[in-house]
Amino acid sequence: MPAAKPALDAVVIGAGPNGLSAAVLLARAGLRVQVLEAHDRVGGGASSAELTLPGFIHDVGSAIHPLAAASPAFRQWPLHAFGLSWVQPPVPAAHPLGAGSVALHRSLDATAEGLGRDGRTYRRLMAPLLSDWEGLLDDLLQPLPQTLGRVPARPLTLTRFGLRGLPSAWAAGQTLFRTPAGRALWAGLAAHTTLPLTAPATAAPTLVLALLAHAVGWPFPRGGAQALSDALAGYLRHLGGEVLTGVTVRDARDLPDARVVLVDSSPAVLLRLLGERAPAGYRAALERYRYGPGIQKFDYALSGPVPWRDARVAQAGTLHLGGTADEIRAAEADLSRAPHARPYVLAAQHSLFDPSRAPAGGHTFWAYAHVPNGYAGSVQAAVEAQIERFAPGFGERVRARHVTTAPALEAFSPVFRGGDVNGGRGDLRGLLVRPVLSAVPYRTPVRGVYLCSSSTPPGGGVHGMAGYHAARAALRDVFDVHEVP
Ligand SMILES: Cc1cc2nc3c(=O)[nH]c(=O)nc-3n(C[C@H](O)[C@H](O)[C@H](O)COP(=O)(O)OP(=O)(O)OC[C@H]3O[C@@H](n4cnc5c(N)ncnc54)[C@H](O)[C@@H]3O)c2cc1C
Repeated sequence: MPAAKPALDAVVIGAGPNGLSAAVLLARAGLRVQVLEAHDRVGGGASSAELTLPGFIHDVGSAIHPLAAASPAFRQWPLHAFGLSWVQPPVPAAHPLGAGSVALHRSLDATAEGLGRDGRTYRRLMAPLLSDWEGLLDDLLQPLPQTLGRVPARPLTLTRFGLRGLPSAWAAGQTLFRTPAGRALWAGLAAHTTLPLTAPATAAPTLVLALLAHAVGWPFPRGGAQALSDALAGYLRHLGGEVLTGVTVRDARDLPDARVVLVDSSPAVLLRLLGERAPAGYRAALERYRYGPGIQKFDYALSGPVPWRDARVAQAGTLHLGGTADEIRAAEADLSRAPHARPYVLAAQHSLFDPSRAPAGGHTFWAYAHVPNGYAGSVQAAVEAQIERFAPGFGERVRARHVTTAPALEAFSPVFRGGDVNGGRGDLRGLLVRPVLSAVPYRTPVRGVYLCSSSTPPGGGVHGMAGYHAARAALRDVFDVHEVP
């Protein structure tokens, strides 16, 4: 008698942006998909909650979503029909400096104008990339070994980008820009990477962040990051997929019978699931997987807007609080042992542009600083001193704060091991070997099991592309589906 067909085609462990994205693609191919999520709501790092006081909606993880707005996967799916609407602050990002500030505007011209003597250089740098940004992003959001090994969709743009992106962000910033404002703006963008500014090829992600501001803005979902994840889950259910929350998968015995398993979790969790079924070499590679620094995060409920010294900063959704390029370089230089006394603080102010985030008159404020991986001490005083430096009187507006340490972040999702928000080190090696060096790094040696979290390419950020590529690999390998559904 032939073996009974499993009731499910695919089970996805984890409902983060990558797990949901993988599940959607599989369901679009007509497969029967079930997602198992440990928390009682979907979203993982892209979720929201009343972390401080009733009515104040904070993002648990991601706050600013240029990658989601530009994602080749999310852009082709009807997520707006499932409640997603983007809020575009008038200015994507501001960088206070002394009593003034410099801004990354949506418009390339406005940004160049604000950069004074550096404006021409900035325009020359960005304009050719901007004219072909969608093609460039298609090439960049692939596994790096694949990008390097195939004829790119946009060879000229990719070559131009590669030449500009290969140096360290520090070297590029010093060569390209002459003014303290230009250098500071560039350093503030570079510091998103959680790598020392002097690390090779950090100019590449810096360019991408600036480019996205001009291409799609730095928006966020109305109502919080949760709205994006809810839209993905809503679309998945519409396609016939199922999401079960409050279910933690500890080992393979917790899984229902299915032809493929996609794991939106850490290499360590994958290791536990595969056990002895995986060859020793693969298991050793997962054990060696490397993480970068962690973060410590602060969510504030405020009695009014942040009292910025320069009122123009109130126009921006994202804030880079770290001062000059030199200061930011020092803050990010070495986070292997101790946090820096004057940290670079990445912050976001949603409720100024989305009143649904706080009760009338109140405001939310989201901020984090980089800390050593696993750091459990407090950097509250240093973070709040940096905010006060550019917004004197901030402390008087704090009605409540919620602190998330690096270990607490790992407890929230194993993907963020030691508080690393990118799910693994994002240096050149970390992009090539994620978690193994392969053109299809999602595939594991055990047939039908795939890793699909941000510990696979293209790495951290809410874009769903790791899940998307992993699902494509599963469709090809197991279901003989070769066209993208
Ligand atoms: C504080 C913070 C700030 C960030 N800011 C930004 C930002 O502004 N913009 C941006 O683009 N990105 C940002 N990121 C990064 C982004 O959130 C992550 O890269 C993204 O969420 C990774 O998605 P993922 O699906 O791979 O993993 P996750 O989002 O971690 O999702 C994994 C999910 O799987 C579940 N899970 C794991 N193992 C199991 C199991 N065994 N059983 C059941 N469920 C399981 C987890 O509970 C979780 O819900 C931020 C992240 C953090 C933490």
